[in-house]
Amino acid sequence: MNRNEIIERLSLSEPDSLAALYAEANEIKTSTIGNKVYLRGLIECSNICNKNCYYCGIRRDNQTVSRYLLSDEEVLSAVDFAWKNRYGSVVLQSGEQQSAHFTNYITRLLHQIKEYTNNEVGITLSCGEQTGATYKEWFKAGAHRYLLRIETSNKVLYYKLHPNDDKHSFDNRLAAIRQLRIEGYQVGTGVMIGLPFQTVDHLADDLLFFRSMDIDMAGMGPYLEHSQTPLYQFRHLLLPPDKRLELALKMVATLRLLMPDINIAATTALQVLHPEGREMAVSAGANIIMPNMTLPKFRPEYLIYEHKPGINDDADISKSKLEQNLQNAGIDIGYNEWGDSRHFTG
Ligand code: SF4
Repeated sequence: MNRNEIIERLSLSEPDSLAALYAEANEIKTSTIGNKVYLRGLIECSNICNKNCYYCGIRRDNQTVSRYLLSDEEVLSAVDFAWKNRYGSVVLQSGEQQSAHFTNYITRLLHQIKEYTNNEVGITLSCGEQTGATYKEWFKAGAHRYLLRIETSNKVLYYKLHPNDDKHSFDNRLAAIRQLRIEGYQVGTGVMIGLPFQTVDHLADDLLFFRSMDIDMAGMGPYLEHSQTPLYQFRHLLLPPDKRLELALKMVATLRLLMPDINIAATTALQVLHPEGREMAVSAGANIIMPNMTLPKFRPEYLIYEHKPGINDDADISKSKLEQNLQNAGIDIGYNEWGDSRHFTG
């Protein structure tokens, strides 16, 4: 698929053409990697972040957030829930911290999770930009997948979303994604969809960027505004929610056509725009869902965007709702499987 063909797909708006695109993507997924969805229990282990991304509700300068770092026991209790409920994997996600204390914390958790679950649970990390030495240490301790979103592959747009300083360097972020590959991880990245100032051309280039980086996993979701962030002032430039959802689904489907064997997440942000947004993305080519395992008392403090769904649900409620919805849509769940990217494992 060339750039024009990608733009053509991202510009579709007729219901019949959209349905055909989603069906084609779903068919390619099924024939390449099967019909299963893999569950990753998402554990938001800390909302402490030393960055100031303009779109993010837990950015350093947002003083209205109470900061936390989960104890080892709190993380293990969430892991226990995921494991006992036959989720094949967990994701440890946090704001960005580069201290030795934080590095050791994650290393210790990785060892504990592997030991506690007899190495039955796969582990994805999403803890931001780190040095090669830290990535190496975490890989050795048992993490095997890493998600580091670029948010946009367009440098000019990137600096409309981030301060233009050393801490938020576009080039460093790219280098960090490349470093993950060197250290042996399955590498995931992703972008926000429907940002202010973003065009369909930017999004087409994002998809081509994924292909050029030969990524193994993608996590893309619609941009959702947060009132305590600088980007909020541009909310009048946003597409209406239904169009943002549609654009996100077109991105998922087009990426599936472009990279048939990678893992593509149906992100929680989709669920904000439609209660069954994640299931819709699965039917348009996604194959990963990351249900939130964070203890309910911490969930309101991890709001990258507002109106995040399920912040008052406990893990049991979120789990049964999701499983029921997937069952209703005729989608199989890969229980007790790591669900590694076929693009990586071959
Ligand atoms: S997007 Fe990530 S790095 Fe940026 S402020 Fe939010 S948590 Fe920190």
